[in-house]
Amino acid sequence: MRAAEQDSGIGLVDDEAQAAVVAAEGIIEKASGGDSGGEFGPVWSDDRVAHLLERLASDFVLDNTYREQHLSLTASENYPSKLVRMLGSGLQGGFYEFAPPYPAEAGEWAFPDSGANASLVGKLTGIGRQLFEAATFDWRPNGGSVAEQAVLLGTCGRGDGFVHFAHKDGGHFALEALAGAAGVNTYHLPMVDRTLLVDVDRLATLCAEHPEIKLVILDQSFKLRWQPLAQIRAALPEGVFLAYDASHDGALIAGGALPQPTLLGADAVHGNTHKTIAGPQKAYIAFRDADHPKLRAVSDWVCPQMQSNSHAELIAPMYVALSEIALYGHDYARQILANSKALAHALHEEGVRVSGESFGFTETHQVHVITGSAADALRLSLGDLAHAGIRTTNIEVPGANGLHGLRLGVQAMTRRGLREAEMREVARLVAKVVLRRAEPTTVRAEVADLLQDHALDRLAYSFDAYVDSPAAARLLGEVFR
Ligand SMILES: *Cc1c(COP(=O)(O)O)cnc(C)c1O
Repeated sequence: MRAAEQDSGIGLVDDEAQAAVVAAEGIIEKASGGDSGGEFGPVWSDDRVAHLLERLASDFVLDNTYREQHLSLTASENYPSKLVRMLGSGLQGGFYEFAPPYPAEAGEWAFPDSGANASLVGKLTGIGRQLFEAATFDWRPNGGSVAEQAVLLGTCGRGDGFVHFAHKDGGHFALEALAGAAGVNTYHLPMVDRTLLVDVDRLATLCAEHPEIKLVILDQSFKLRWQPLAQIRAALPEGVFLAYDASHDGALIAGGALPQPTLLGADAVHGNTHKTIAGPQKAYIAFRDADHPKLRAVSDWVCPQMQSNSHAELIAPMYVALSEIALYGHDYARQILANSKALAHALHEEGVRVSGESFGFTETHQVHVITGSAADALRLSLGDLAHAGIRTTNIEVPGANGLHGLRLGVQAMTRRGLREAEMREVARLVAKVVLRRAEPTTVRAEVADLLQDHALDRLAYSFDAYVDSPAAARLLGEVFR
């Protein structure tokens, strides 16, 4: 049995993609079966390493074909540029790198090194601090979940409390079980369902009634609106830590299309680097003040308490991804917002039920479509839409009285070069499946047509145009030396 067949148990690998794999394996077999001799001559087919690589290649064919031909409308994913991907192949990941984001004496886990890590970390933290108006930038968390968990554990102990968004209001899932196990009480942010905004007065009352609350963390993954951060800060008792999880809207903040949390009173902004920021699957924690009393505790929870290795090979890719934001982020963020608004309005005009009409549907990269029951939404996302070549996730839609639907995000397609006009086409195709129950395979052909002129290997707002430059060649020559 071929690997691709084994992996297709859930029925998501369709015939066309399967055919691409079979064809690719055929090509590889043919190329290897020739009689030209030399290194890749007749012995190839007996060579188990070659066979292993051949099989791996077929997985990559399957995946690349899928990615090229699918409209990726998931809000939590992106396409990293070629340089971001290739730089992750450096040897740095073979050594440990522990240094914390505060001054510390060298201790038991300090290693001799070339000085390159300090130089790379210096570049990365410099640009990270600048993009998030922060005094520190800890590059070490291996994901957005670790970052928020470190903030929770560094600010709350047994018997303390913290406030975050309930799941139904888009809160992330990484905190409550951990808080329970650590003896920290969980409270939910009071919301106004109609506006999807935090009810600041009720939050003030909640904190006054529960003086054990030490942390308020804005951790939405389902996020259509900017929250009133300055008012939230003003409503909190002194000493309550205010954290902003920018996993979703990091590029919108760094690109200047949304405000800077640290300038509005957040003690720290943190998040991963692979949703609107098109970096590797990695994360950061940035403090407003370098001498913040919680900096040490939060940082030590990241490493060494929850992590030992921090994937040092991803320092350079993070730096390049943030450099792409520094250079192109202004235009990228504005195009994302133009695209999400265009998509939401066009879906609405098609007759699709879009959440948030009272505030213009969206202020972020996300658009929420209400479709009905949880089972319906799941069936659409993994069934008809998937077969139509449209990649989405199903969610319980915030403010929709328990109804479920689709969370769409436009950032990945914005990097493929789609703009407002194409967004209207995307809306038409989504509506065709969701409302008009069109045959998914016919829509799939239209999706492929739409994407044909938007190559995956020349992403907008990225350094892809420089990948063949002499400077990149010299750099990559060293990466793969
Ligand atoms: C996606 C997300 C995370 C988790 O990030 P990972 O890198 O997958 O660990 C954390 N917080 C929020 C708000 C998120 O949306």
